[in-house]
Amino acid sequence: MIAEVIVDITNSTVDKVFDYVALDDTIVGQRVMVPFGRRNIQGFVIALKQFSDLTDDKLKTILYAIDDYPVILPEHIELMHFMVKKYHLRFVDCLRLFIPSELRSDDVKPLIKTYVYVQCNTQEYAKSVRKNAKNIIALCNFLVKGERYLKSELTKKYSQSAVSKLIESGILQIEQVQQNRTPKSYEMSEQKHKLTPMQKRAVDAILNKNDTYLLFGVTGSGKTEVYMSVIENIVNSGKNAIMLVPEISLTPQVLAHFRARFGNNVAILHSGLSVGERFDEWRRVLLGEARIVVGARSAIFAPIQNLGIIIIDEEHETSYISESNPRYNTFDIAKFRSEYNKCSLVLASATPDIDSYQKAIDGEYKLLTLPTRINDKPMPKIQIVDMLSEIRNGNTGMFSSALLYELDKCIKEKHQAMFFINRRGYSSFMRCTNCGYIPKCTDCDVTLVYHKKENKLKCHYCGKRFKALTICPQCKSTAIRNGAIGTEQVVAQLHEMYPQVPIYQMDNDTTRTKNAYQKILSQFGKSKPGILVGTQMIAKGHDFSDVTLVGIIDADQSLYHSDYKSTEKTFELITQMAGRAGRDKAEGKVILQTYAPRHYAYRFIANYDYKSFFDKELSIRKNTMFPPFTTILRLLFSSQSEEIVREITKLCYTNIKHLRDIYLDDFVYLDAMKSPITKIKNKIRYQILMRIKHEHEDEIIQKLYEICDKHTNAKVSMFVEINPQNLS
Ligand code: ADP
Ligand code: ZN
Ligand code: ZN
Repeated sequence: MIAEVIVDITNSTVDKVFDYVALDDTIVGQRVMVPFGRRNIQGFVIALKQFSDLTDDKLKTILYAIDDYPVILPEHIELMHFMVKKYHLRFVDCLRLFIPSELRSDDVKPLIKTYVYVQCNTQEYAKSVRKNAKNIIALCNFLVKGERYLKSELTKKYSQSAVSKLIESGILQIEQVQQNRTPKSYEMSEQKHKLTPMQKRAVDAILNKNDTYLLFGVTGSGKTEVYMSVIENIVNSGKNAIMLVPEISLTPQVLAHFRARFGNNVAILHSGLSVGERFDEWRRVLLGEARIVVGARSAIFAPIQNLGIIIIDEEHETSYISESNPRYNTFDIAKFRSEYNKCSLVLASATPDIDSYQKAIDGEYKLLTLPTRINDKPMPKIQIVDMLSEIRNGNTGMFSSALLYELDKCIKEKHQAMFFINRRGYSSFMRCTNCGYIPKCTDCDVTLVYHKKENKLKCHYCGKRFKALTICPQCKSTAIRNGAIGTEQVVAQLHEMYPQVPIYQMDNDTTRTKNAYQKILSQFGKSKPGILVGTQMIAKGHDFSDVTLVGIIDADQSLYHSDYKSTEKTFELITQMAGRAGRDKAEGKVILQTYAPRHYAYRFIANYDYKSFFDKELSIRKNTMFPPFTTILRLLFSSQSEEIVREITKLCYTNIKHLRDIYLDDFVYLDAMKSPITKIKNKIRYQILMRIKHEHEDEIIQKLYEICDKHTNAKVSMFVEINPQNLS
């Protein structure tokens, strides 16, 4: 037999399938060692066939198999082909996504523990040894026939020599057992609710027919119980499940729920695990020992067979899109796997992505709704506070009088408060603090980003540059401000006001260490009264029953982030944040501080009116021809040499212009420019930006790949990004 092998090597010119003569027991998906050039390297068998086009003298033979089980499933080999074509990736980069990196580098070994098994009655034996062999006698009295003990524990207590003696005498038999390193999680007792009629309707629909569903359920509507109930049914029917959550910070709570309900049947996969934990969890899934995978984005690649359901929680989250090499979109992968396994795919959110909701309207997804909270608890009331009028009334601090009043009440009643500082990305905008004016690009209608070093405003979409603002063109005021308030400032000020109240800070700075999230969240959970101040990390998923106040310090920061999705992201974030309040008996209240109180996004947020927001946003997208009406494509080039990268970009650009001449109706926008961040790690970055309509999208993308393949070379790295979330 001939084996088709992909070699594990980081050199783009050898990204091909090679033929080797297979060994007798070679199987598809196996890792093998093969001779390659003058060395031996690792490879993956992706197919077996009868004949090769190469002549016998050119064919080399596989040296040996590295593992005795296949590490890649047949499904994943097909997935690899799909990804290579769709995203223009290298074969080996896809394969690397499917297995833990530690496996490839052989950095991780199975954890083997040594046990001893007691073969016969040891009390009898104890009578036959010398009276002064105290350790042996004590050990014999302790051991019970037919039991198993960890050897190291016995030697610690009864001495090495005593244990050895019993092994030599054949009383104890050594057994090597592989141990699983299990990630820690919160302890939580199982709570299984009787489904409400609404929850039941959703569960029944999902189980009834294999399809793609959009579960649109307001915050606190009991989506988690829907997921668990669906998964329970699927597992009982003999099939397996994948459940994705957007971020590690969410995993502790969700995970604890799943562990409590499903025990060891759950495996967790995310980047926060230790090397050994990740390897063992992956292996448990591969061997079918764990049948439910809960994890972040990359868990979509879990080697789980016979899938019966894939659920993606908080589907609007950008973390589902991989923005660094290898670039991929989790939904494409989920869709592929659900079709391959003929199972349902559920996307769920309280604030669905505009694109997803459009698909639900078009019938591509089946819409399921949970329009009210569990037990018909009211949504917390959202009060919009105009910070400009606060300034006019002499309050120049960061907290409005309404927020101060509510906070005082909350603390007195021994409830909890969450203060949210919106910080998406690091770029900042300029704003007139007198009238609220914010400069926008004249060509793109997106907020300009202030670049401090050059003291210029730039459009991150078209690259156009503008003078930094000194006088407001609208009201002629010179009260221009840039930059934003940080979590630290807020915490400091709250400390001054309430020195006795525990205040916790949760952001990138305070959550660097392993388990830091869990620690902060569990401490806050116990503090009544208590305040948690944080970035978007605190906005999602958390279910604290005593939070009655949510303060949104400066809602506008993501509103004026420079991309077409910034309003949508603001709507999502603030709705999610508001959803943390009033989840139990006590009523919740949300204070939303803004300099643009009349912005349509806030009006719809305050009324929890997703549908109207969607309609408004969609009409804007239609007028400006942004997604979902078009697809944004970015070709990103980078190189050490500015000359070469400029040259190649120009060459590709010329070719793409020819392509546009053929597809004139499809191109809405095309331009080439330096990237907003001109240099990363000493590599100069250029980009070609496009917006194209959908009709010939796949065709055009394949042609773009061809152009790039033809013109790029080893000195330039090039990536194609489809609807990138970040254009810096
Ligand atoms: P969501 O994810 O939609 O924001 P959760 O799943 O966190 O909502 O549920 C909100 C609260 O309602 C949780 O405290 C949960 O335990 C509770 N809950 C869920 N389903 C039920 C039910 N059928 N009966 C009673 N309480 C429920
Ligand atoms: Zn002004
Ligand atoms: Zn522009």
